Amino acid sequence: MRIGENIVASFHYTLKNDAGEVLDSSQGREPLAYLHGVGNIVEGLEKAMEGRGVGDKFSVSVAPEEGYGVHHEQLTQQVPREAFQGVEQLEVGMHFQASGEQGVMEVRVTAIEGDVVTVDGNHPLAGETLHFDIEVTDTRAATAEETAHGHVHGPGGHHHD
Ligand code: ZN
Repeated sequence: MRIGENIVASFHYTLKNDAGEVLDSSQGREPLAYLHGVGNIVEGLEKAMEGRGVGDKFSVSVAPEEGYGVHHEQLTQQVPREAFQGVEQLEVGMHFQASGEQGVMEVRVTAIEGDVVTVDGNHPLAGETLHFDIEVTDTRAATAEETAHGHVHGPGGHHHD
């Protein structure tokens, strides 16, 4: 069964950056399962999965525009430490909800210098070219419920209470 609309595909992946550093990998874990064609995975990878079958191994490089987006400088802000009152120990890497012009967004603390805290609303992988090594391990037809929900149920997928 080839990967296309309404197909659930499972795959192992290793994700590297331009420097060849491994950013994420499914090795040692269950393969990742996704519903094809609805944006469950980044656009460039989803395009590369189209038409593949079980046992296919391939590598694909995904530009930021089809990955986690380009890096928007205006999503980086410097704010005074007083803005974090109530936070006992402010550290680089912490995540906060911030409300701005585009509504509530998730920001990450990327630097703390004295009383100045830099927060970044970009995805941590924004601006990165993503290099994936992929092995397709399973394909099956999606259930009607999965198609309606727009995600995979069961192993490797979404679990409802
Ligand atoms: Zn569901």
